[in-house]
Amino acid sequence: MKIGILGFQGAIIEHERHVAAIGAEPVIVRYREQLPELDGIILPGGESTTMGKLLNRTGMMEPLRDAIAGGLPAWGTCAGMILLAKRLENDPARYLALMDITVRRNAYGRQIDSFSTSVEIPEVGTGQLPLVFIRAPYITETGAGVQVLCRLDGHVVAAREGNLLATSFHPELTDSDVFHRYFAGMCAAR
Ligand code: GLN
Repeated sequence: MKIGILGFQGAIIEHERHVAAIGAEPVIVRYREQLPELDGIILPGGESTTMGKLLNRTGMMEPLRDAIAGGLPAWGTCAGMILLAKRLENDPARYLALMDITVRRNAYGRQIDSFSTSVEIPEVGTGQLPLVFIRAPYITETGAGVQVLCRLDGHVVAAREGNLLATSFHPELTDSDVFHRYFAGMCAAR
């Protein structure tokens, strides 16, 4: 199974390591020609504005949108979640705009802009899962077809809509492979 990682900017090698660890083949994706070979794609954390510019400049925005709209499983972590969202509460920009969620960028503000915690997410795996947040967005509204996977202090921080998975946090920065296994399951089920 080939799992792509959008390779412009951000936490690329961290995802690569986890994908390899679960026995899938990581593919760093920088060209539209690479899209057809993939079983799924991860949009990493980083800076959504920068990734959006690079997607446009390289001509990859539309082919990537088409591939995901056509069923390619996609998982956005943090900035990647911003790329997936149909609506951004505090930013006029729109990127892939595929997932029926409203996202607030940098939602935790300056005071607690980075933190970690752990929670149980029964849909994803057993036991406590470590969650790492870095200048994280969260989801303020979900459409009818969106399944909320995790709430933290009342805010939605993980959700799924069919072939789309979005997390405010960074599983790739932890030792846990649980989220990568869950996503690989989505790719296998395609
Ligand atoms: N705040 C960043 C953005 O808006 C996301 C931060 C992250 O991905 N760690 O793109």
